[in-house]
Amino acid sequence: MINIVLFGKPGAGKGTQAEFLKEKYKLIHISTGDVFRFNLKNNTELGKQVRVYMDAGDLVPDELTTKMLIDEVNKNLDSNGILFDGYPRTISQAQALDEYLETINSAVTATVALEADDEILIQRLLERGKTSGRPDDQDEDKIRNRYQEYNEKTAPLMDFYKSQGKFYAVNGIGTIEEITERLSLVIDELEVKVKG
Ligand code: ADP
Repeated sequence: MINIVLFGKPGAGKGTQAEFLKEKYKLIHISTGDVFRFNLKNNTELGKQVRVYMDAGDLVPDELTTKMLIDEVNKNLDSNGILFDGYPRTISQAQALDEYLETINSAVTATVALEADDEILIQRLLERGKTSGRPDDQDEDKIRNRYQEYNEKTAPLMDFYKSQGKFYAVNGIGTIEEITERLSLVIDELEVKVKG
């Protein structure tokens, strides 16, 4: 399996790029944010548990998130590989992912980050909030809180993956096509390495 972690701040374009990459490389796209929002909308037990965190722009506790993620991966064990979008977001989640993938004889192939400046992204999210209906996109304080969560809890993952030699970054500013192209260059190299 080719397992790719798409990494980036809120609004960096992970979801948009994932839509293209999953087609191009025949990968399964798992977006933790989308799975949580599906559960919120359908008011499931999980939805009820995560609502307070999501509405505030706080991270959902690791235990709940990891359990949900593993359930999603387990549905796709026969796939070419997985595009992880929004997971892991803490060191503890990254460790849980490594441990879990090992049990299915797999591993994270690489982490690819979309890089962009905070102020540009905050404006993008406020714009998205006008049409997305996402309460966490409509209020600048909540958006800033998501960046704080990112800086405190998620940014340390860059060193985690660098120390494993698995971290790649591309410039996340440009047209959607340009960015897909930059990501593809990285993934093509990985495919060559994985397949030998
Ligand atoms: P964005 O990247 O634009 O902030 P997401 O759709 O990826 O949006 O996530 C929305 C919200 O879902 C997060 O603010 C958080 O509350 C919750 N969430 C998603 N993934 C995780 C995760 N791996 N760990 C904890 N909470 C998460």
